[in-house]
Amino acid sequence: MQKQIDIAKLDYKDCGCPQKNLMFQPVTLIKRLSAIMSETGKEEIVPIDAFQCTLCGKIPDFVSEKIPGGIPDEAKPNKTNLIT
Ligand SMILES: [Zn+2]
Repeated sequence: MQKQIDIAKLDYKDCGCPQKNLMFQPVTLIKRLSAIMSETGKEEIVPIDAFQCTLCGKIPDFVSEKIPGGIPDEAKPNKTNLIT
C-alpha cells in the first residue's frame, strides 16, 4: 500500500539564487563525454537538464552540484554583486 502524503502540509523551503530570485526556468547544458569514458568507445554529446535563474540567467549551486562535471564558471551566480 502506498503511503498517503498531504503535500500541502510538507515543510517545503524555497531555493533561491544569491540575488534572492526564486523563479527558474528549464535549460539544457550540453556536455562532451570523451571516447575513453563513453560506453560506445566514441565521443558522446550528452544533454543535461538544469535550471536557470530568470533574473540573472545563472545556474544556482543547488542545481549545479547535481550536474555531472559541474558547470562552466560563466554559468555560476556572481556572489560578489548581491542585491540586498
Ligand atoms: Zn539569479
